[in-house]
Amino acid sequence: MTTIAPGTASCYAHPASPPVGECRRCDRAICTTCAFEGVGDGGPFSGPTYFCADCMLAGPTAEQQRGAFVFGLGSIACFGLTVFLLGASILAVAAELVPAPREEFLWGVVGVVKFGLVLTGISLGLIGREKGRRGGALLALLGLIGNSALLLLLLGFAIAGSATKG
Ligand SMILES: [Zn+2]
Ligand SMILES: [Zn+2]
Repeated sequence: MTTIAPGTASCYAHPASPPVGECRRCDRAICTTCAFEGVGDGGPFSGPTYFCADCMLAGPTAEQQRGAFVFGLGSIACFGLTVFLLGASILAVAAELVPAPREEFLWGVVGVVKFGLVLTGISLGLIGREKGRRGGALLALLGLIGNSALLLLLLGFAIAGSATKG
């Protein structure tokens, strides 16, 4: 997709140089001298893509910024839901609504859901960061940090919980 067969074109800035690929943002052919390597749009495994110097400085496209925003929002939503569940669990314990044995399954489910939400939030934050490249992904960055902190907290609770049990 981004690779051009050799000889079919030359770099937009260096007519003598064969292109290494196309700029992902403006589709101009670029050579190794002026290509900046970027991360693939489809995730970390989609291979390298390139940006020309102009587009590297110009930042992400509107479409990429939208993607970063949407994924960042999803990441924040996961963070919010997990905080809510965590708060509800802590309140329930504080109010001594300690689970009866038959409710332990439910508590296990809530615990798994919390981990699932946090891991989803981290993934969404990572994708958002990638879509927004360097700038314009503040929401995704916040989601990433928030969810990572929650993951550590949940792991801490899980370890403390199993230590008191055993
Ligand atoms: Zn470009
Ligand atoms: Zn060039």
